[in-house]
Amino acid sequence: MKALQIRHLSKSFTSVHALKDIQLDLEEGQMLAVLGPSGCGKTTLLRSIAGFETADSGTIEVGGHIVFDKQTNLKPEKRRIGYVPQEGVLFPHLSVAKNIGFGLSRKDRNSSRIDEMLELVGMKGLGSRMPHELSGGQQQRIALARALAPSPSLVLFDEPFSALDAGLRADLREDIKSMLKKVGATSILVTHDQEEALSMADVVAVMRNGSCVQTADPISLYKYPTDIKVAKFVGDATIIKAQVLNGNIKSLFGNLPVASGCPKDCELASVMIRPEQFIIGKPDLHLPGQVGGKVLKTFFYGHDAMVYLKLDDSFGGDEIQIRVMGTPVFEPDEYVSIQIDGEVMAYVHEDEALA
Ligand code: ADP
Ligand code: MG
Repeated sequence: MKALQIRHLSKSFTSVHALKDIQLDLEEGQMLAVLGPSGCGKTTLLRSIAGFETADSGTIEVGGHIVFDKQTNLKPEKRRIGYVPQEGVLFPHLSVAKNIGFGLSRKDRNSSRIDEMLELVGMKGLGSRMPHELSGGQQQRIALARALAPSPSLVLFDEPFSALDAGLRADLREDIKSMLKKVGATSILVTHDQEEALSMADVVAVMRNGSCVQTADPISLYKYPTDIKVAKFVGDATIIKAQVLNGNIKSLFGNLPVASGCPKDCELASVMIRPEQFIIGKPDLHLPGQVGGKVLKTFFYGHDAMVYLKLDDSFGGDEIQIRVMGTPVFEPDEYVSIQIDGEVMAYVHEDEALA
């Protein structure tokens, strides 16, 4: 049984087509990240699943039960869905314990459920605090405890970390992920942050202008993006032009192995290379045809560094960026050799796609 199944879900506001024919499937216990830029329809999708928004058409099934279709439109409280909204998450005039108990029956409120939830989110004994006496991260933990308290079939998070600073965000991501695993919760995380989506989710759905353009596990999404826009949205990418000859991609780096499924019946391709696929080294003067270029600048990030370089004019003169582990040993103006490691993705080149 699927934890969530969405078919042909569409929703328009007066002037915007906010959701276009959305299809989604989610297995029990999994986390789905919905990733996309601001305004692409993420919140509208979550609110439609939760029942705060009524879609125009399509079906939504939660845990095998139809909660929305042509005949059905269950009220939010009948859907067994926990919702952690983007802002203003806690009731400011209620204590932490009362916030957590908000959606519980009187019987559950008087049981040990609230204490269990406080313990789960690492805030045992803090039930009598008021929301303003908590840090931002603690408030988010309580919002999670409140959403999980009624044991929902599905928990929805709308950009839950966007108001937190970077360090806290990373800690909370890990904690929330392990809390959800502990109770076996099925969840959807909405985010515009690709790193958050790739690091937390089992499945990522990329949205653009109201459509879901690709759904895949994080590794497949990063390695095999469906188009160049997705490639650039989920990570850094260098795009080079290449000829296609007898189904082989011939680029300035020579014949490149391409991932299966790439177009091979075109003449021109755009080839997508991730920064960590480049290997730079000292040029070998004895190797003919070796691709080289000049280092423009380097950015050091601690765990890795980005080297920006300009290919030699004999190789087209493009600028590319290369990720190197550790400290960069290359200086601006230094001439280096460049190779490519592993499979690349190829797409029909725009000039040809337009023709
Ligand atoms: P996201 O969460 O990805 O930023 P939203 O789902 O909030 O995107 O919005 C998608 C589109 O629908 C936007 O163009 C937004 O302006 C529009 N929209 C959202 N809610 C409403 C509403 N209640 N009335 C009119 N337009 C809306
Ligand atoms: Mg939103």
